[in-house]
Amino acid sequence: MIPFHVAKEKEMRAIGIEPVHGDELQGKAVKLIHDYRNLSRSLSVMLENCTRCGACAEACHSYLGTDDYYNIPAARAGLFRRIFERYCSWKGRLIGRLSRKNAFNSRIVGQWAEYFYQCNVCRRCAMFCPFGIDTGEITIAARNILTQLGIAPHFIVGIGKNELNTGNNTGILKPAIMDSCAFLEEELREETGLDIKIPVDKPHADVLYVPSSSELFTNTDTMLGAAKMFHFLGVNWTLSSTILEAANYGFLFDLDIMKRHNRRLRIAAAAIGAEMVIQGECGHGWRVARMLSEGANGPVTFHLTHILEFAAANISKFRLVKIPMRATLHDPCNYGRGSGLVDAPRELIGACVEEFVEMSPNRELNFCCGGGSGLLMDEMKDLRMLLGKKKAEQISALQPLDYVALPCASCKAQVPLVLKHYGMGEIRTGGVIELLGKAMVMGSIGGNG
Ligand code: SF4
Ligand code: SF4
Repeated sequence: MIPFHVAKEKEMRAIGIEPVHGDELQGKAVKLIHDYRNLSRSLSVMLENCTRCGACAEACHSYLGTDDYYNIPAARAGLFRRIFERYCSWKGRLIGRLSRKNAFNSRIVGQWAEYFYQCNVCRRCAMFCPFGIDTGEITIAARNILTQLGIAPHFIVGIGKNELNTGNNTGILKPAIMDSCAFLEEELREETGLDIKIPVDKPHADVLYVPSSSELFTNTDTMLGAAKMFHFLGVNWTLSSTILEAANYGFLFDLDIMKRHNRRLRIAAAAIGAEMVIQGECGHGWRVARMLSEGANGPVTFHLTHILEFAAANISKFRLVKIPMRATLHDPCNYGRGSGLVDAPRELIGACVEEFVEMSPNRELNFCCGGGSGLLMDEMKDLRMLLGKKKAEQISALQPLDYVALPCASCKAQVPLVLKHYGMGEIRTGGVIELLGKAMVMGSIGGNG
């Protein structure tokens, strides 16, 4: 059963996709599979080299949480492999002339939608596979093909449309952005007595900060921490009303939307004349910006960094008072396995709290929280709690615990629900930059204090 509300045809047309019907389905799907194979040589390599050894099974939190055979990475990939072999190998094509076995049809569409949307694209399976087979990449390929056939979650399509139209997930426009920034500036004034600005579309800024848009509404402590840090360092920075979103949902279901959202970033940076772009706390958004942007749209003209890297590089300049708490870090998959961003958050948390404890396993072997790859939809909440079971076990083993640092907007949405579901609702959660903001003794080394 498909676990999400499928987007309506008119919603797909709004993002430029013409849904496919009846007799057209097989021909279009086969063309898309061939196109994707030509685009990505690694897809063929991953589909052709699995020995069914089973080493990936215990690596996947999705399988461990649901106990569903098709959530074993190799079995999930097998749903694609069978179709791939049927249409892309001489043997499969020969058999296809004699039998309808493994023909692409609406039943396959349903199965792909069911299981490729129970994969968080966390890539942990690839760490344990002797051949490095990354079922997350196969999931991305399958999701892209489903999208081109007209099948995608209503939730993700809505976000993709918002990103295309406004440059942020919630579709907020500049007046609402300005209101929210004014409100947060007032909070900063009350807390610090300082006139700390959160500039929007400031011309000639040196630094463009691309946050998660949730930092203006729900994860506001992360924005407050970032604003304090920039103020303290005397950074000439700004937000852009046209790219207020580090997340890039196109990566999760439509690579063309991914490229277009990434181009917004480049246009905004050029318009401001920014020499540096700093991405906020968003896992997959950082993976796209750091690892995929150049391949998608060519070299960038600015220095690109992550707010955790930027803060860690300046750590000796801050005056910090350690917060009396016992805290741990959840390594977002797209940092730990997607881009090697593991040391900076540890350095920051270690400097900001009295006791830092490691989850086990951690860094590139950490388990996914179950919220990544766009699965945050309400209708998938029960399933997501199963996907979060390994995360709950990891956190439970660290009790008593005061705080789980979650430097990714998707993890910030998922982990509090997981903690509540598994009876640990009293543990606080939030960002890493939030901790920095709370530990900082204000003033300024840049003349703005
Ligand atoms: S990418 Fe993650 S969720 Fe998907 S199959 Fe691999 S381990 Fe499981
Ligand atoms: S570990 Fe690799 S080779 Fe073994 S079953 Fe899983 S994907 Fe196939």
